[in-house]
Amino acid sequence: MSGEDTTRRLAHGAEIVLASHNAGKLREFALLLGTSGITVRSAAELNLPEPVEDADSFEGNALIKARAAATATGLPALADDSGFCVVALDNRPGVYSARWAGPERDMSVAMGRVERELAEAGSDDRRAAFVVVLCLAWPDGTYRMVHGRCEGTVSFPAQGEHGHGYDPIFIPKGETRTFAQMSETEKNRFSHRGQAMERFLADCVTR
Ligand code: IMP
Repeated sequence: MSGEDTTRRLAHGAEIVLASHNAGKLREFALLLGTSGITVRSAAELNLPEPVEDADSFEGNALIKARAAATATGLPALADDSGFCVVALDNRPGVYSARWAGPERDMSVAMGRVERELAEAGSDDRRAAFVVVLCLAWPDGTYRMVHGRCEGTVSFPAQGEHGHGYDPIFIPKGETRTFAQMSETEKNRFSHRGQAMERFLADCVTR
């Protein structure tokens, strides 16, 4: 069997692997899944190599990561892929959000590029969104995808000290502050990842 199975769920008490080496993401996932009866192992703990994420969509990259971990461990695997999409830049940086920070992984470089390309585009459209796709893959090749999206606007100069990534230049709809000016709890009320996690628990885990 392979392909998407939109009815398959994790059984209560199932053991899964989180296909990420990012400590922040692991903490977030483990916290959320902690209440669900699911036991969580991490890719780092199991010494899994990081696969090359060379797909041109969030879905494609999430599937690459989840499938690699499911195949290597024989356990269901959960992965995510996320990014920042700016409407006037044809939804870029999108899947290249991490890469825009350059080899030094410097987010001021990435945010500076967004500002420069927006000026070059000559558009007043400041709409933007954070997007995340979660993929749960089983060792037999079947998988499920769950999406999360947070709409808002891109705003310069960068403001706020909290959060990570593009948070200092993103104001979610209905707010006046950037994500980086909010506490983690406040951000999670709006955030793409918070929404996707809620959907994942509702749709993919047996209660
Ligand atoms: P990945 O999902 O680990 O491939 O990361 C994608 C990139 O998107 C990150 O490196 C961040 O730059 C950006 N990103 C994803 N989610 C967020 C967020 O919640 N706030 C700020 N930036 C984010």
